[in-house]
Amino acid sequence: YAKLDSSKHDADSDAISLTQIATTAKNVRFRNEPAADYDDPEPDYDSDGAGNHRYNGARPKHGVAVLPALPGSAAGNLRQTARSADTEHDLSAMENLNEVSILHVLKERFKHDVIQTYIGDVLIVVNPYKKLDFYGDRYHEMYKFVNKRTDLEPHIYWTVDHAYRQMTDTTKNQVILISGESGAGKTESTKLVVKHLTHICQSTMSNLHDRIVKVNPLLEAFGNAQTVMNQNSSRFGKFVELNFNASGHMKGACIHDYLLEKSRVVHIGPHERNFHVFYYMFAGMPAETLRYYYLEDPMAHRILKSDHNQKRMFYDESDRKLCKQKFEEMEEIMGKVAFTKDDISTIYMCLAAVLYITNVEFQPEDDNDGVTIVDDFPVNYVSDLLTIDVDKLKTSLMCRTSVINEEDVIALKTMEQANDERDAVAKALYSRLFGWIVRQVNSKLVDSSSASATTSNSIGILDLSGFENFVDNSFEQLCINVANEKLQYFFNTFIFATEQAIYAEEGIDWSHIEFQNNEDILRLFLGDDDTAPSGSKRSFRRLPNMFTILDDESKSPQTTDSSLVRNWSNNLSDAQNFKSVSGDELAFVITHFADEVTYSANNFLEKNRDRLGANLVSLLQKSENDFIKDLFSAELADTGVLSRTKSKIRKSTGCGLGMKSRKSGRGSVTGETVRKLKTRGKHQMPGTSLHKVQTTASQYFKKSLEELMRKMRTADPLFVRCIKPNLDQERDMWSDKLVQRQLQYSGVLQIAKIARLGYPVRMSFCVFYKRFAMIFQERVPMPSGDACRKALKAAGISDEKFAIGKTKVFMKEDLADHLRLATLGR
Ligand code: ATP
Ligand code: MG
Repeated sequence: YAKLDSSKHDADSDAISLTQIATTAKNVRFRNEPAADYDDPEPDYDSDGAGNHRYNGARPKHGVAVLPALPGSAAGNLRQTARSADTEHDLSAMENLNEVSILHVLKERFKHDVIQTYIGDVLIVVNPYKKLDFYGDRYHEMYKFVNKRTDLEPHIYWTVDHAYRQMTDTTKNQVILISGESGAGKTESTKLVVKHLTHICQSTMSNLHDRIVKVNPLLEAFGNAQTVMNQNSSRFGKFVELNFNASGHMKGACIHDYLLEKSRVVHIGPHERNFHVFYYMFAGMPAETLRYYYLEDPMAHRILKSDHNQKRMFYDESDRKLCKQKFEEMEEIMGKVAFTKDDISTIYMCLAAVLYITNVEFQPEDDNDGVTIVDDFPVNYVSDLLTIDVDKLKTSLMCRTSVINEEDVIALKTMEQANDERDAVAKALYSRLFGWIVRQVNSKLVDSSSASATTSNSIGILDLSGFENFVDNSFEQLCINVANEKLQYFFNTFIFATEQAIYAEEGIDWSHIEFQNNEDILRLFLGDDDTAPSGSKRSFRRLPNMFTILDDESKSPQTTDSSLVRNWSNNLSDAQNFKSVSGDELAFVITHFADEVTYSANNFLEKNRDRLGANLVSLLQKSENDFIKDLFSAELADTGVLSRTKSKIRKSTGCGLGMKSRKSGRGSVTGETVRKLKTRGKHQMPGTSLHKVQTTASQYFKKSLEELMRKMRTADPLFVRCIKPNLDQERDMWSDKLVQRQLQYSGVLQIAKIARLGYPVRMSFCVFYKRFAMIFQERVPMPSGDACRKALKAAGISDEKFAIGKTKVFMKEDLADHLRLATLGR
């Protein structure tokens, strides 16, 4: 059956029609003929023998001629579709449902550029790695107030439309969880969700829609980077919350950011890049502006070099052009949407300071344990850019201050400590700058007028970094993977466990469907109470788990990364999912829901402590630039709240330091200076209090994850599963193996079963009676299950289409649609 509503198509919409016609034609063939007879000749594909296929470029012929005439009205069409004819649109409706057939259908659809497929309410999107023509205005119109999911081609716009309608109908918050591996298309899907929402609803603020869409490139400039997996990989997670008033008008948005990969600021892997913004600056800023920030040669900066680009920053001229274009776009957004000129200037100063502080090099002192600074000029630039005292900066970089017996004690840093703490300043500066940008952006996305500040609902969209398994996996990967475990658990619980529990509670016979449960692994990491099924509140938190052991170890100065791994091995020996590696005292292996990952615990304790030297913090708090001062205020470290005052900006006359690198010999602070400093007074230095309020990185991570999960649990979820068709980021290329693995661990097969075997629509007896009174032959004051059953039987509905529980009627989706249409027809 063609699922096209002819009234929605113009003669000039070839691209749209062809896509849909191709699918429809394909569907007809697929249903009626064995797959082997399909007229797509093999030569269309190259195969490398390892399950990777690539088109030769020839597009399949569209079977326009075999298309049946389109029924004129959607209603006429609907009665036919109630027979679940359109199997491939919804995998759960397929008769022959197994892993191979699902893989086959997705692959065939992908071949025809049909990348979206339902599996019940869950949407699967396969990344096409090319621009497809079905996201434009016409589609926004088409997917506005969709009557029935299967009326139209599967589309992410349906998911959005459905979420919006659910929210306005039920006044319950909605959340759309977009998941998938790095490069699978989560961020692109998130943008489409926001775009469609801004089309289907009005907003209370004149340019709110525009702003919400526009801030994306700004956040991506600072939060995304090129990785081996994805040229525009999000190195932070985000939860976009769109808020609506009681009339369903959008009244604001709030972006919550999670887990920025700040280690990238100081270290980039082979064939990867640092955050986009650095490249945009060098490509887009005029030379004199760059010079104002003391910048000239990008290759003079350690953190912008990786193995493959020691000599050149840009791959080629078109790369440079693209970065320049992105810079212009970023500047426009910063100017128009978010920041003042002073803000923008300070942002660039912070970025330049990051580039220079990471260039500071140390060397061991001849007659002392400590280190000295090799070359003064990067420190001088940093001091000037951040408006902090240069001598104090040098001292802070070379020495540590601690308070022992109420006296400041200055200790010389070892080479390793000096390098680590220098990098820690750069990471802190960048990540706090990013946090500030997000908060600033948020302040521009709210309609603060009192009229719209009343109660409301929200639609949240979650785009969290996907599961990661690199050659080297560290603390950052562990956190990202734990977050993904948690989301997978949420998905499992929602789709499977909740479903089964509902059936059991209502006394409806339900054949148990096995699903991959990741409860054990969450317990291993978090000892999490909320993994316990409701009603069986076992206290997992008290069990030894990786994060509490990590925190305990981080408290003691004697521990090392290898003692941490030993401690884990000794205490978690019962856990099936944790293995230490013989011969490598830092390595350990975790069996995640998606894959087995080998981590190195190198630097875990330091990363978890996430500490900046107290004297460095104190120094930054004394910056003459209020913006920088605020970034390092104790309140920010503790609560994440920033009280911003007017920035003082460095005068444009520069700071008297020439652009040429000057080798000024050894640093000016020596052991002698340090000894003098030791005599300083008895009072505690400002900023040392920061140590006391500082939480560890894992505590902060757990707290924000819990907060996020709380939001998830109080909303109605909708799921979008993004699938990556190949590892080469190439169009028209499909790897069976890769897709199959993603389908397996994302639970697609189980969803199909549950959606098909289950009854997705349920209504209490009363609601059922109210909605479908016309099928009841007599008035029923207090409708019972028996009365509902009698009415359904009398209407000729067969038994397998519904089940009667203790309090509710359970229906197959097509039956519910059929009844709704019948009601409309009255
Ligand atoms: P990460 O976890 O690394 O951030 P991601 O899942 O967010 O990855 P995206 O950045 O959304 O991945 O997508 C990667 C690339 O794939 C995009 O830059 C774009 O080129 C392409 N892509 C993704 N989705 C689509 C789509 N629907 N249509 C066309 N191209 C797409
Ligand atoms: Mg992304």
